[in-house]
Amino acid sequence: MKRREFVTKLGIGMAAGGSLLAGCDKQETSTAKPGKAKTEYEWNMVTTWPKDFPGLGTGANTLARQISEMSGGRIKVTVYGAKELVPAFEVFDAVSNGAAEIGHGAAYYWKGKNEAFQFFSTVPFGMNAQEMNGWMHHGGGLELWKEAYAPFNLIPAPAGNTTVQMAGWFNKEINNISDLKGLKMRIPGLGGEVLGRAGGTPVNLPGGELFTALQTGVLDATEWVGPYNDLAFGFHKVAKYYYYPGWHEPGTTLEAIINKKAFEALPSDLQAIVTGACRIANQDMVDEYTAHNNAALDELVNVHKVLVRRLPDDVLAKLKVLSDEVVHEVANKNDLGKKVFASYSKFREQAMEWHNISERAYYNARG
Ligand code: CA
Repeated sequence: MKRREFVTKLGIGMAAGGSLLAGCDKQETSTAKPGKAKTEYEWNMVTTWPKDFPGLGTGANTLARQISEMSGGRIKVTVYGAKELVPAFEVFDAVSNGAAEIGHGAAYYWKGKNEAFQFFSTVPFGMNAQEMNGWMHHGGGLELWKEAYAPFNLIPAPAGNTTVQMAGWFNKEINNISDLKGLKMRIPGLGGEVLGRAGGTPVNLPGGELFTALQTGVLDATEWVGPYNDLAFGFHKVAKYYYYPGWHEPGTTLEAIINKKAFEALPSDLQAIVTGACRIANQDMVDEYTAHNNAALDELVNVHKVLVRRLPDDVLAKLKVLSDEVVHEVANKNDLGKKVFASYSKFREQAMEWHNISERAYYNARG
């Protein structure tokens, strides 16, 4: 079904923008004043998240709202949660083939296309949000990402970052690496590969299916994001221990993917607005997580009596050895992987040198 037919069928899109259109002359285009412009482009945004889900779904909403507001309504973006237009894991293909103009998700979901894509989301023991943003926007990361997605008619942009995640929810204590053996755990991307090498069974499920999977025993454990998101899903009702730190996702970049043809159909001012809106949404998600994780952790611990545990040092050390193996293997699978990893790892080394005497030193001093 064509997008326009779909929009008409559901009675959405133009109807929702009715107030914007009221009083607008059909001839009115380039002379329109900001806030009074007529809708020139109707975009559908498909996402891998439940609709309006805190942080991730709301991050997609922020991006859509920014594009609509900054363009004075000339672009109207309608956001769809996972399964509303397409299932979570079909977002990439839907935008690639033009069924939707824009998508919001994470690059590690598309490792089936090319394993090297995972470097654009997160790497176990890799860069945090601040470092990823530096690499993307001022260290060559985004150029490489654009090159990687070009064969799929997609233009990517960082459009959110979860900051450091939690290691996940478990119903037994993890005291040594053998406690991960046989564990069926939802953990995506490179972290999932690492769990597999530690003897566990990584499962990749969309967020909306995790609570039931944990409750019914389809999963023994799950990671998701951090206190803000995990409290919203209610994992504390079906798991006892909440482990940190999120070694597997130290600062996951969320992505906007824009259909190349749809982007190129825009005049240059609207292209700049879409690009700028991604940048705003990217930073806004960091701000949102920073503001809400604190209060959510407090509620999990003090109201719901969740037992927060730190993964033992030797477990983390073993996971780091396995992670290095996995990351190097994936990096060497193809030319893209080699090129992206060379850029990523050089930036990471330099960032670590600097952050050891800045961020880390400051955290230590602050106590
Ligand atoms: Ca996660």
